[in-house]
Amino acid sequence: MAKDSKTCCPLCGHEDNYIAEALSFAAIKKIYRKQFKIIIDDGLDEIALHVCRNCGLKFYTPALTGGERFYEGLQKYDWYYMADKAEYKTAAGFVPPAGDVLEIGAGRGLFRRHINCGSYTGLEFSAHAIEMAKRDNVLIYDQNIGEHADSNGGRYDVVCAFQVLEHVADAREFLSSAVKCLKTGGRLIISVPNESGFTGCETNNVLNMPPHHVTRWTDTCLINMAGLFNLKLVALDYETLSDMHLRPYGICMAQDAIKKILGMKKSQIDRLFFFFPVRLLVRVLAMIPMSGLREAGMRPRGHSVTAVYEKLP
Ligand SMILES: [Zn+2]
Repeated sequence: MAKDSKTCCPLCGHEDNYIAEALSFAAIKKIYRKQFKIIIDDGLDEIALHVCRNCGLKFYTPALTGGERFYEGLQKYDWYYMADKAEYKTAAGFVPPAGDVLEIGAGRGLFRRHINCGSYTGLEFSAHAIEMAKRDNVLIYDQNIGEHADSNGGRYDVVCAFQVLEHVADAREFLSSAVKCLKTGGRLIISVPNESGFTGCETNNVLNMPPHHVTRWTDTCLINMAGLFNLKLVALDYETLSDMHLRPYGICMAQDAIKKILGMKKSQIDRLFFFFPVRLLVRVLAMIPMSGLREAGMRPRGHSVTAVYEKLP
């Protein structure tokens, strides 16, 4: 039975939410240590996943976000920063040719290469990424969106953030500042992992948990978000399952099938899949959906969803 919670939703501010699952943070830390060689040292024993009944956002408490050392640990892996994100192409179609564009969490500003626009400005904290952007003559500020919005209200035709929002503890403040930077009729483009797709059903995927992700975004939540920030939803665009996510998809299906056969309840962390013989079985079973989806035309929705909104008067 889900427990009610007095914690406020970080998106809509309502108290009306319930705890969908309490998770052992010790187990999460153990996976980070074994899988990514990242030590998380904070003394927390348990975290909880809440679901807001008002807006549909799923959020973790405490909203523990990763520090510099945590992200340095992940950046050692080539796959962590993809040069070409699938959503760049989708988003580029919503950028007007002479528009002024702001990207939050811009990295080295690679999205700039995908668009024709009047001007491009990025916000980024990584000194290394800012240095690389400088070499490419891309304008990047070491600022958060709140600071930038203070002196740039109503300036941009497009404000975008790709795979950033799910890392942010105060989603309401982040989005309010992003919308503040837009002209009336300007477009907010947000891409996040698609909680309504296979990503929302994965087991032991700690990258979708704190301190990496602190919120999870369902279609319902992305639709409700429009009303919270005086926006009109223009499009929800779903990434098709990519080659790099074919294996996680197959594993997710295999784990789900095993859980159903054994009558196990859905849980984000499950020690059953730590055991070598079970892991081996999962790997073999995962080959079935993976081989059936080799043809691109057969593939379901993939990892991410891109939501496009317009700022109303
Ligand atoms: Zn809410």
